[in-house]
Amino acid sequence: MDRLSSHSATKDVVQKHGFKFSKSLGQNFLIDDNVIDSILQGARLSKGDQIIEVGPGIGTLTREMGKVADKVVAIEIDRKLIPILRETLDDLDNVEVINKDILKVDVQELVEEKLKGGPVKLIANLPYYITTPIVMKFLEEDIPVTDIVVMVQKEVADRMNAVPGTKDYGTLSIAVQYYCDTEIVAKAPRHMFIPQPNVDSTVIGLHVRPEIKYPVDSEEIFFKTVKAGFSQRRKTLLNSLSTLGFLSKEEIREVLLEANIDEKRRGETLSIQEFATLSNKVNAKVPSK
Ligand code: SAM
Repeated sequence: MDRLSSHSATKDVVQKHGFKFSKSLGQNFLIDDNVIDSILQGARLSKGDQIIEVGPGIGTLTREMGKVADKVVAIEIDRKLIPILRETLDDLDNVEVINKDILKVDVQELVEEKLKGGPVKLIANLPYYITTPIVMKFLEEDIPVTDIVVMVQKEVADRMNAVPGTKDYGTLSIAVQYYCDTEIVAKAPRHMFIPQPNVDSTVIGLHVRPEIKYPVDSEEIFFKTVKAGFSQRRKTLLNSLSTLGFLSKEEIREVLLEANIDEKRRGETLSIQEFATLSNKVNAKVPSK
């Protein structure tokens, strides 16, 4: 079987099986060869790779990954797609489909059992309604993932990739860039999917750094400081940091001074390094339990 990524090939498969798209499961299937190629290039897909795919749909991207990678494990929630995938992936014995909800999968266990203990890459055209929970699951749980190359809603990619001082820069930018170098891999306007969604998409590459770039004394306090810093976007840090709840105004003044950050600045202007330095000063003032 050849590629499935043309409009007619996808339509044939869908019609043959009488498949009905589910909007609530974010089912918009990709029908563009160039974007598929960009995803594979963005992921630097090569022979020895172990891949996890979330939401294979009818197997369009899965097939192309299966032709190159060592092993692909594809997790699909919709059981109506399973017989279709059995057929479209029939000739690839290095591809395994699991009928589960990704948010309920113990990915560490899966990597141990089916993917040689890693390292793994997450490559997917993600269902939009759970993009951020999926990406954060892979970054925050102890999963040996090196690269995440995913299709997400354009606005989400812009936020993940944003730099300080821009309107898109916020807690998601920092949550992702704390762990990864980010890269916009490709644009995928809405006409490249069936059915056509009412948003445009972007493929973003998140390359997990092997070394810690921003050493923090407490990740919990780091993320709390970031959240507080963005809690009231129009207010100065002197005001917004009060939402931490355990520092007096005078103590906030002190930590900002110690971190060499002007108290009149707003959170959205701080680099991740500045947030890291600030959070270490905040951490030193956390009341002992
Ligand atoms: N990979 C296919 C493509 O590129 O054409 C389909 C991508 S479509 C945007 C998202 C896929 O994720 C659908 O197949 C949908 O059924 C599946 N999905 C939705 N929620 C899921 C979940 N919680 N766990 C696993 N798969 C899910």
